[in-house]
Amino acid sequence: MQPSAPISNSNSITDALNNVLGRIAETSAACGREPAQLVAVSKTKPLELLQAAYDAGQRHFGENYVQELVSKGPQLPSDIKWHFIGALQSNKAKTLVALENLHVVESVDREKTATALNKAVVALGREPLKVMVQVNTSGEESKSGCEPGETVHLAQYVERKCDGLELIGLMTIGAPDDAEEPVAFRVLKGELEAVEKDLGRERGSLMLSMGMSGDYERAIRMGSDSVRVGSTIFGAREYPNRSK
Ligand SMILES: *Cc1c(COP(=O)(O)O)cnc(C)c1O
Repeated sequence: MQPSAPISNSNSITDALNNVLGRIAETSAACGREPAQLVAVSKTKPLELLQAAYDAGQRHFGENYVQELVSKGPQLPSDIKWHFIGALQSNKAKTLVALENLHVVESVDREKTATALNKAVVALGREPLKVMVQVNTSGEESKSGCEPGETVHLAQYVERKCDGLELIGLMTIGAPDDAEEPVAFRVLKGELEAVEKDLGRERGSLMLSMGMSGDYERAIRMGSDSVRVGSTIFGAREYPNRSK
C-alpha cells in the first residue's frame, strides 16, 4: 500500500509551476510582450519543495523572513537568485546582505532601510545590491510600503545617497479584491513613470514587480515585468496572513 500523498509533492509542484509559466507566457504574448519573470515565493515551505521547483527549472525564489532565507539559502544550489520581499529591520540588513546569491531586495520602503542595506554592502565589500522601492498602493495600514507620494523622493535617495545600491524597479502587493481595472496596479505604474522621468531614466528601464497568486495575470496585463507567486505553486501556507 502506498502512503497517502502529501498535499504538495514534487510532481504537483512541477505541474503547478508549469501551469503558472504557461499562463504567464500566454498572457504576456497576448499583450505583445516577452514573458514576465516568475519569482516563486517559498516562505514557510520546506527545502524539498524548493528543490523540486529548482529541478523543474525555476531559478528566482522569494522569501519574506531574513532568518528563514539565510538558513535555506546555503542549503540549496548557489545559482538560485533570491529575492527578499519581506519587511526588513535595519539590524538584520547585514545578515541578509551576507547571503552571496541574494539577487534583489524588493522591499525598501523607507530611507532607514536603504541606509542600513547600503552600509551593509559597503562593510562587506560586495558589488552593488539591486533593490526595488516598495509602494503601498492599496492604502491599507497593514501593508508595508511607502506612500505613493513618497516614491520619487525615496528613489532619489537610493540613487543619490546609496552608492552600494542599484535601483531596478518598484514593487507593490496591491489590493486583493481590486476590480478588473486594478487601481493599485495603475498607481504603481504611474509612480514608475514618475520615477523614470525624475531620474532621467529611459521609459521602461525600471521594472514593475506586481501580481501574486490571485492576480498575476491581471498584473501582467497592467504592465508587470515580474510576478511573485507562492501558494499557487507550493500550496496554501499554514500561516497565510503572517506577512500580509
Ligand atoms: C507571500 C507573498 C507573495 C506570494 O503570495 P501568494 O498569494 O501565495 O502568491 C507575494 N509577494 C509578497 C510580498 C508576499 O509576502
